[in-house]
Amino acid sequence: HAKRAGRDAYCFFETSMNVNVHRQLQLVQDLRQAIARNELVLHYQPKFKAPAGPIIGVEALLRWQHPQLGLLMPGEFIDLAEKTSLIVPLGAWVLNEACRQMAQWQAMGAATCAVAVNLSAVQFSHPGLVDTVRQALEQSRLEPRLLTLEITESTAMRDAAASVEILQQLRDMGLHVSIDDFGTGYSSLLYLKRLPANELKIDRAFVRDLAQDTEDAAIVSAIIALGQTLNLRIVAEGVETREQQDFLTNLGCDSLQGYLLGKPKPGSILPSLMLHDDRDDF
Ligand code: C2E
Ligand code: MG
Ligand code: MG
Ligand code: MG
Repeated sequence: HAKRAGRDAYCFFETSMNVNVHRQLQLVQDLRQAIARNELVLHYQPKFKAPAGPIIGVEALLRWQHPQLGLLMPGEFIDLAEKTSLIVPLGAWVLNEACRQMAQWQAMGAATCAVAVNLSAVQFSHPGLVDTVRQALEQSRLEPRLLTLEITESTAMRDAAASVEILQQLRDMGLHVSIDDFGTGYSSLLYLKRLPANELKIDRAFVRDLAQDTEDAAIVSAIIALGQTLNLRIVAEGVETREQQDFLTNLGCDSLQGYLLGKPKPGSILPSLMLHDDRDDF
């Protein structure tokens, strides 16, 4: 019986593993076609000045409208895109699309509002990055100061010296740099000081229990103080409750992003969010 059960268990394991591998291979093949088939979409999530506005920017978040599987979130395909280097053409599409849409909204009279694009590790270390960014700006004619690139703290610190150089080239073009998911990487404070960034985004892991957990509150408070010292804008991500909003505002956090204030939404509804609001403050 034991032998039989063992073999069945093995067969079960092998089958489910095959299904998984098969699904991954199928996804990679589909992903190769996704751009040409027009299946990629950007949703945009606003960033607000604390405590409740005005809007200071939007973050572009990639979604994939898969013909059979429905709307896929980045967690379901970005890793795969990274492993296969498909992230390079995918990332170029995101940059072009985000710049094109923001330039269009600006032309419609939207408030001065930056668009933030996420870059993953493979994109960031790819030698074509600076040219890809320059082309996206030139083709869209978006003002460079209205483009922000978000890279995670861990990506930035992987080869900190190289990151300083790449980010400086990007800053020299006039765009802004944001350090995403801050607090979860292993920052060398020496490099953090040298990193030509404009913004730190506090990882949502620290925001979640902020009002109950005194250690999280102390960490958030320290990140805010650090950001102020280095002259960086501080954005808290994942703000879901009034309590978190109040707490962060009292700690001196500049800007807030999260479901409480605005969920990621398709670009079509963005103009209504950004029109009739005339500011020039970033
Ligand atoms: P991220 O850049 O840290 O983006 C924040 C994620 O948290 C987004 O998930 C957003 O929808 C979600 N979020 C925002 N507010 C809240 C909240 O109040 N509560 C909770 N629970 N979640 C919230 P999403 O869109 O699934 O993206 C996940 C990650 O995928 C992003 O994390 C980013 O690292 C990556 N990603 C998204 N779009 C792109 C892209 O175009 N290129 C690359 N390379 N990576 C991308
Ligand atoms: Mg981000
Ligand atoms: Mg983040
Ligand atoms: Mg995060």
